[in-house]
Amino acid sequence: MFEKVTAAPADPILGLTDAFRKDPRTDKINLGVGIYKDEAGQTPVLRCVKKAEARLVQEQTTKNYLSIEGTEAYGRVVQKLLFGADSAVTGAGRARTAQAPGGTGALRIAGEFIARQLDSNTVWISNPTWANHRAVFTAAGLEVKEYGYYNADTKDLDFDAMLADLAQARAGDVVLLHGCCHNPTGIDPTAEQWRQLAKLSAEKGWLPLFDFAYQGFARGIEEDAYGLRVFAEHNKELLIASSFSKNFGLYNERVGAFTLVATDAAVADTAFSQVKTIIRANYSNPPSHGAAVVALVADDAALYQDWLNELAEMRDRIQEMRTLLVEKLSGRGVDQDFSFIARQNGMFSFSGLNKDQVERLKNEFGIYIVGSGRISVAGITKSNIDALCDAIAAVI
Ligand code: PMP
Repeated sequence: MFEKVTAAPADPILGLTDAFRKDPRTDKINLGVGIYKDEAGQTPVLRCVKKAEARLVQEQTTKNYLSIEGTEAYGRVVQKLLFGADSAVTGAGRARTAQAPGGTGALRIAGEFIARQLDSNTVWISNPTWANHRAVFTAAGLEVKEYGYYNADTKDLDFDAMLADLAQARAGDVVLLHGCCHNPTGIDPTAEQWRQLAKLSAEKGWLPLFDFAYQGFARGIEEDAYGLRVFAEHNKELLIASSFSKNFGLYNERVGAFTLVATDAAVADTAFSQVKTIIRANYSNPPSHGAAVVALVADDAALYQDWLNELAEMRDRIQEMRTLLVEKLSGRGVDQDFSFIARQNGMFSFSGLNKDQVERLKNEFGIYIVGSGRISVAGITKSNIDALCDAIAAVI
């Protein structure tokens, strides 16, 4: 029977990592997948995570199953990070959180909840967006539509296109927004634009779905939640998919969360009972370790401060690489303006390099970048930046 099965295309990003691994060149550089690298080119376990893990190993007494939605402590911590310490949403018991296997798992729960329980079957995603959004929502049975987001000429948000496209969204349609550090463009709405979008969403009756995979990578934990919190002020109902893969460096532990905000606690409980049936039929209950680490760190004042410091180290290093990249490219006489790279947020930069240039970087220089020209700035270090700039200068 299996002979009939045709091969699936390689995943555009993870497929690139496979090609990188097979490349024998020793000076190759992988700027494809969004993984943080330190100055030594490593993706180390955060110090606060190591400390929390040591404590967990000591104190753990059982490997018994968790409940379908995971631990209460983790849910509380996730909501505090999302809405802040004194939030009206959590104060009124309007939010319910389920521990999920990564941000991807949380998005899939969201997709299935929408498909099975809500009237509209349509989700609007930005063009461009993280490639897996379309795949996850389509697999959940949703119809995916796109709204404009990026202006290739100004290298900035195309807010007019975004508003024009979303004017076609009907009441009940789901609008996916990146909480911060938009992947792949690195461009987020301004505070004023967030306020405008939040008001519009409430007026039009959209259901906002926040994908929050990079909290802390733009300006800081509280600052990066600005857009979400403005939406929470204006909108009675919200869905949020959180990921702690990047900001806790817990990539392979699969730590995420699905949060539902309803008009009141009773509605939240009833809706959440359906979320639990979705989880039960998917993976039954979540993995424990990574979420236990996050809950422990966030609930301990000293470890929390350690985490904020380490997050700031990662954020500052990426920002330094952005500035250096712009300087070094102009130092090599590249007359194309790359100054926008220094203004973008998070791990990624939409470089403006075209498909041919991306191909040449790979073939001639062993530099791996996603076909769209998205560079993972988090993979640039002081040791590879000169080779990278020489190569970019050569292909432009
Ligand atoms: N959303 C966005 C925008 C992402 O960039 C990612 C990770 N690349 C995810 C969700 C998924 O995160 P996770 O690895 O936790 O599943």
